[in-house]
Amino acid sequence: MKIFWTTLMAYILCVWSCSAKQSDRRVDISKQTKPDNQVDTVDEQTEEPASETRDEVTLPDFAFSMDEVKSLGPIFEEQLSESLEESDDGQFQDVELRIEGLINRALEAPDLQPGRQMKVVIQENDFPGANTLINILTIRSATLSSNFDNKSRLAVLCHEIGHTARNHSDKYTDKVIESGGDPYNRFSQMPDFTSYQQATLSGTTYTHDSERYKKVIATWENFSKDLSEFKQRQEFEADIIGAAICGKMGMDAATYHASIITFLKKAYDIASGDSSSSSEPEDFQLELESQERVDLYYRTLFAIKSHPSNEERDLQLKEVESALDGYWDADAPFYEEFLDLDIDI
Ligand SMILES: [Zn+2]
Repeated sequence: MKIFWTTLMAYILCVWSCSAKQSDRRVDISKQTKPDNQVDTVDEQTEEPASETRDEVTLPDFAFSMDEVKSLGPIFEEQLSESLEESDDGQFQDVELRIEGLINRALEAPDLQPGRQMKVVIQENDFPGANTLINILTIRSATLSSNFDNKSRLAVLCHEIGHTARNHSDKYTDKVIESGGDPYNRFSQMPDFTSYQQATLSGTTYTHDSERYKKVIATWENFSKDLSEFKQRQEFEADIIGAAICGKMGMDAATYHASIITFLKKAYDIASGDSSSSSEPEDFQLELESQERVDLYYRTLFAIKSHPSNEERDLQLKEVESALDGYWDADAPFYEEFLDLDIDI
């Protein structure tokens, strides 16, 4: 059980580091212009696999209705194409250029105007996923392992471009400001949290107390509910816009739907390692460095639930698939070309 918890923690921390990076960057550029930067991906699968079948899953009320999906067009808001320096050691340059070339050619298609130029960076990482900062699309190397095929990879890229196209990161930042600022800062002042921290941290040792944790996590979930729902709705929207973008590239909605869900499920399996059991780990102890302690409390134990469950995303896409088919251009060449790309690493 400890393996599950520590694996999950490592995974979430990795995800956080990606988000933190983009968040920091956002502050730098926000004064210069209006960026279309963006958060994460189809990544943080912090929820357990649901035991129920899809028929038993009910969409949350902040998911998109069919009418909303139909009114989402025009797909893109006006974009600014910016180029940013990104550290990249060139290890995967060949693969990066192959993906970048095709994606950028696809984004020049008239239906995807005004379009943009994306820079693709592959980051060495054992956990699959991607994120986008303005026009830099970072793909974790595990996404290009033999666990995944090009259909799933393309669906993930379209989802990411969907985040960018709707300026999700900016909108989330505005939402945080609107709701009173950094939720972690505010939560850390609450007596429930401070007493939990006092009880579980001794020097550099964190001692997990599941009973105590259950009570505090309930407080946190209530506290962060608005922000969580806001983020989860952005994920639904990125799935929907992603379907439209992939559709314009030549991938039909049903294939997009199946491909992204396949990716999500495999990514979850990889992230959760050998544990398939419970989300309630037994009590354990962890020795943590200073930054790790901060990450543990604020990014892992009390993380914003940023993604709907895989089952909810599956159901949302299923429910609006007929509307998404309206974006499908069966003659667009890019989908077939992407399937032929040799990008395994
Ligand atoms: Zn996403």
